[in-house]
Amino acid sequence: MGRTPDQAAGATHGLSTACVHGGDTQDPATGAVMPPIHTSVTYAREDVDGHRGWFYSRVGNPTRDALERCVAELEGGAQALAFASGMAATATVLELLDAGAHVIAPVDGYGGTFRILQDLRPRSAGLQVSFVDCCDLAAIGAAIRPDTKLLWLETPTNPLLRIQDLAGACALARRHGILTAVDNTFATPVFQRPLEHGADIVMHSATKYIGGHSDVLGGLLVAGTPGLGARLHGLRSTTGAVASPFDSYLMLRGIKTLALRMERHAANAQAVAEHLARHPRVGRVHYPGLPGHPQHALARRQMRGFGGMLSFEIEGGAPAARGFLDKLTIFTLAESLGGVESLAGYPATMSHAAMPAAQRRAAGIGDDLVRLSIGIEDVADLRAALDAALG
Ligand SMILES: *Cc1c(COP(=O)(O)O)cnc(C)c1O
Repeated sequence: MGRTPDQAAGATHGLSTACVHGGDTQDPATGAVMPPIHTSVTYAREDVDGHRGWFYSRVGNPTRDALERCVAELEGGAQALAFASGMAATATVLELLDAGAHVIAPVDGYGGTFRILQDLRPRSAGLQVSFVDCCDLAAIGAAIRPDTKLLWLETPTNPLLRIQDLAGACALARRHGILTAVDNTFATPVFQRPLEHGADIVMHSATKYIGGHSDVLGGLLVAGTPGLGARLHGLRSTTGAVASPFDSYLMLRGIKTLALRMERHAANAQAVAEHLARHPRVGRVHYPGLPGHPQHALARRQMRGFGGMLSFEIEGGAPAARGFLDKLTIFTLAESLGGVESLAGYPATMSHAAMPAAQRRAAGIGDDLVRLSIGIEDVADLRAALDAALG
């Protein structure tokens, strides 16, 4: 790749350093190298007019603040906010909009994002949503209306690992006065920093790579400007879906090794993708790091690495895919992604079960498709497990 995580443009430190030291999270009172988990909900005031920066934990908590300072630095943003889950973060972005606003979102976005935009907010807030192929700038352009207020992007996409052009889409939205929010869960700031490409807000399901150990549910937003950060903070203080002190601590702990883990996830995924692409029982392999990926050049331009997710088609359709998943060892058959352990998923009955079969096939998600979240194990063991299950 052109740049390594240590050479992120515009950063005062490299990203590996920022993962370890970002936000200056040592405790000034005691020198504790890791910040304490502050469970107190309320804080003694200095007097009736003044407080020491904290007064009630829904509004601010020292442990959560430490995490937020670190994440703001990693994404190169003005302010970060931690939430109880990725969906709570997404819901708070939608709270920026007035009732009846028009939103553009990807047809192939995360299922929960699709549900809140398709069913919930149209009912409760009158949002009008156009789902388009956000890999196609012309399709985004054609969907823009005078009342469009938000462009939601998510790249790479799930489960086909398609790439949206962040700089192109953000510039298009900006010309029309539209806010852009980018779900950066798959890439993480180690491999992609959407604010550098013109996005206004970055969103994460920290449940995935940021937590990294499949043991914490969390979400993050990063605002590019202090004004937007203050608005989002006000909304979260009102609606209350904050990350708990313990979960904030777990996310911050996960970030310490994020750069190291992402390098191994990506190296393993690249090796597995190349291995599968050569296998006689495997059809197409979807991984942006393969030179044959339709948007490999774009991925190289906007990402510093290609991540740990891939999907592939097995010869023999649904029975072959099911047989493969039955026999597969080391990989756990489970929802979610981004933990140190390798996981396998079957989009047709798992992540994309809610999508009608015809729509799923039209989107290229066949019954022969298997999704892998590649962990940090020895890659030789992963290859051997895949070969044995392919038979
Ligand atoms: C998991 C996920 C979400 C939702 O996050 P939760 O933490 O489960 O609420 C959103 N976007 C993507 C890409 C995800 O993988």
